[in-house]
Amino acid sequence: MNGRFAIALAGLARAGLLVKGSIAAAIGLAAAMLVLVMLAAWWAAAGGASARTACEAALPVGRLAERTAPKELVSLFTEAAAKYELGGEGPAILAGLTKVESNFGQNMGPSSAGAIGWTQFMPKTWKAYGVDADGDGRRDPFNAADAIHSAANYLRASGAPREWRKALFAYNRAGWYVEKVLRVARTMRLDAPAEAAGGLVGCAGAIDAPSLGGGVHRVTGGGEIVSIPGSPGESIDSRILPDVLALQRRFKFTITDGYATSGHAAAGEHPLGLGLDIVPGPAGSWEDIDRLAAWAEPAPDQPRRPFRWVGYDGDEGHGRGHHLHLSWDHAPAPRPPAAWVLTLGAR
Ligand SMILES: [Zn+2]
Repeated sequence: MNGRFAIALAGLARAGLLVKGSIAAAIGLAAAMLVLVMLAAWWAAAGGASARTACEAALPVGRLAERTAPKELVSLFTEAAAKYELGGEGPAILAGLTKVESNFGQNMGPSSAGAIGWTQFMPKTWKAYGVDADGDGRRDPFNAADAIHSAANYLRASGAPREWRKALFAYNRAGWYVEKVLRVARTMRLDAPAEAAGGLVGCAGAIDAPSLGGGVHRVTGGGEIVSIPGSPGESIDSRILPDVLALQRRFKFTITDGYATSGHAAAGEHPLGLGLDIVPGPAGSWEDIDRLAAWAEPAPDQPRRPFRWVGYDGDEGHGRGHHLHLSWDHAPAPRPPAAWVLTLGAR
């Protein structure tokens, strides 16, 4: 489905870019947008919405609010992560787990499998790992403090924070579950006091082209390979250099490759100077790269414009611990410069 939808989107995007200056064009654009809305509704109804991953700045505020952890729980996530030494990502992952398991206490079971409470423990596991965190003398999976601390206790015993994926797999033996919790954690907004939020994975929803000083548009003509200031030995198409520098300021990354005639996909964007490989810079972290990736590719294989392809978690040879690849969309070209390129218009 992704492919079909992406092609339809690309077609509409092109139509929107090409028509201008007439009433017919305006009507055409409105019709295109209507079709787009209908397509999106169909796609959501078809189950695509459950696969959405990121902050989704384009979504109505109501959807973003769903990604915000309830205030009264935030201190529990922070305390439990600290007590069981789950590291900087601990609070966000506990929040993601509690969201996925019970929608923050709205579906406390028992599930068809018999799981109960805020963090959906099986009774047998609860016997072994359940703790009394609120000090009332009972271990109660329907008490938020007890349930969240018990989940932290179990994750710690199962390998977190050294091996988050292994620990989450122990919690629920399904690969999709592990990825879902991590995805939700990445985009979870914990509106906690600044000191408690330190090291948390924030929501990338506030980032957009305008906040980088521009707006997505197509640059036709021009373009030459120029060196990237501050990145010795690296070069890029001059039309996307401002984007690259603005993103680098925001996400504190080191550029490991830009324009390159070999060592990358021949039909990709590195040989055109429109591809970028990055890793955390000295002042940055993988959390910064996660946020950038989640923003640039809000849903699997549906990069945000101006990006043509985003290589990260789920893409072979890319991802956390390897690198993030960003490609800017462009006219087909055998060699640089491409006739046109989409840019963020950053300044
Ligand atoms: Zn690359």
